[in-house]
Amino acid sequence: MPIHLLAPEVASQIAAGEVVERPASVVKELVENALDAGARSITVTIQDAGRSLIEIADDGAGIPAGELSLAVERHATSKLINANDLFQIHTLGFRGEALASIGSVSRLSITSRVKNTDAGARVRVEGGITGRIEPIGAPVGTTVRVEELFFNVPARLKFLKQDLTERRAIDGFLARYALAYPAVRFKLIDGSTPSLQTAGDGDRRTILATLYGVEVAKQMLEVLAEDEGMSLTGYISPASLTRSNRKEITFFINGRWVSDTPLTQALLQSYHTLLMVGRYPMAALFLEIDPSEVDVNVHPAKAEVRFKNQDRVFSFVQRSARRALLAYSPVPALPSTQQPWGGNSSSAGGWAAFSNEKTPQSQGPTSSTIGLEWALAHDDFESTPVETPAAQPEENQLAARLHLPIMRLIGQIGSTYLIAEGPDGLYLIDQHAAHERVLFEKLMAQHEQKNIPAQSLLTPQVVQVPPVSAKILEEQIPILEHFGFHVEAFGPNTFQVRAMPAIFANTDPANALHALVEDFEEDETPLQNEIESKIAARVCKRMAVKAGKSLSSEEQRALLTDLENCNSPRTCPHGRPTMIHLSVDMLERQFGRKGAR
Ligand code: ADP
Ligand code: MG
Repeated sequence: MPIHLLAPEVASQIAAGEVVERPASVVKELVENALDAGARSITVTIQDAGRSLIEIADDGAGIPAGELSLAVERHATSKLINANDLFQIHTLGFRGEALASIGSVSRLSITSRVKNTDAGARVRVEGGITGRIEPIGAPVGTTVRVEELFFNVPARLKFLKQDLTERRAIDGFLARYALAYPAVRFKLIDGSTPSLQTAGDGDRRTILATLYGVEVAKQMLEVLAEDEGMSLTGYISPASLTRSNRKEITFFINGRWVSDTPLTQALLQSYHTLLMVGRYPMAALFLEIDPSEVDVNVHPAKAEVRFKNQDRVFSFVQRSARRALLAYSPVPALPSTQQPWGGNSSSAGGWAAFSNEKTPQSQGPTSSTIGLEWALAHDDFESTPVETPAAQPEENQLAARLHLPIMRLIGQIGSTYLIAEGPDGLYLIDQHAAHERVLFEKLMAQHEQKNIPAQSLLTPQVVQVPPVSAKILEEQIPILEHFGFHVEAFGPNTFQVRAMPAIFANTDPANALHALVEDFEEDETPLQNEIESKIAARVCKRMAVKAGKSLSSEEQRALLTDLENCNSPRTCPHGRPTMIHLSVDMLERQFGRKGAR
């Protein structure tokens, strides 16, 4: 075929593909336009999951009749003049592509009226062909109707998912925008039934319930942080509330939903060792940052951004989220209104009860800068910059929350729990979870020093594993080497262990190898240090002393001392609590010594 210029309709259909992929992307572009126009109320109506109709009505500034036909031209915008403006963008749109793109793949009509004019005007575009402007009566604001999306691009239609999936994408999108713009009234009408409605009264908690359900919303932790011209607000889930993928992690940057951002990784790091393997938190976080610090023009649908100084933003997000998490995760104390030994006093009750309490975190941005850095610097994760402690009294309080007081061992009960006394009451410690934590911190500390003492076995041990596991194990051999396991392939599905990390000396090598391959879960984004800490956590779990094993008093004391020395003594590396605290106060209440509640 000789080279030829594409017909304009074809070129614009191709270009439209980048912006308009599915009904939800139409909703996104049109809602963003309404927000840019300063709307206080946005009503979205869809039919057949947006296939036959998407209509968005707003009460924003409107488009003057004289500009209507320009609005639907490609590269026509009122939001930007020259390329430098890209770095001072305060609007969601700026590429001038959305209306043109939508017009080229649907039957589009825009009705609009600006303030102080008698009548509105309407323009229609069908498959990229713009009709005449007609005057028409209309309220102030803009109504955009998109009918028969992709009627002229049947190939696209085939790529749409089932109605349910497409509708869920629209729902999810609107709920998130509602959360990002709590002062705007959002309404979604699906067919003829309203399916989402917000009050526009600025209250984010209520909207959060729309997004996640009431139970979950109640437990979400508030994030409020500020640092040198950046601010981060929003909600994250406590470590006890997780999902099996990262789809519930939402970031808004300067009011724009960004789906693909390295900040997700920053958030995950803030949960380091608090989550079980393969579990992910939920989050809706809103970052405000000087527009000159972000490049928003790296993706046609603006779903990605780049930061001028990514490390700074990354560490800010990680610290702020970590701070919120730690402020909310004390030892799960038994709620004092319940019978301490009763059936329903699960630790989950304790966590949930606590998350409704007021903590320093919820008192506002000033208190978020309390000397938690101290605690963070002493916590067990890598890239936190060590900052000098701020001299504030809360610092000690928080540090005390994170670290354990010196405790007096009382003994072991049921060959499973240690019981110890601290300055403020009684601690029941799960020996297995506690030992897991101790081993994990020791191993990771040695690993960070790049110095894991290995101990050679007198006779190398041969271990056989199932074929599926053999493949996993083979891939992990180099990592195991870092940890002091000297393992080599020794025939089909067979491995030979020559040395073990010294802290596991005198344990069964076969047991350790099996721990590495059993309940192995594929990671979505295998980051080296994440893999390594997960592997370490798995081995430590397997090697830790089991429940039901009676310990000598020396062993009990050693375990308690080791736990006291841990950086995160209160949870095991998989996020379960290592202890339950029965405070003096609670005991007194339970025995009726103090004002009964
Ligand atoms: P962009 O948003 O990138 O400027 P669009 O194609 O989405 O490009 O819109 C083109 C122009 O039409 C906008 O710059 C704006 O001036 C106008 N416009 C679109 N939607 C609305 C609306 N709902 N209210 C007021 N003006 C609008
Ligand atoms: Mg736009």
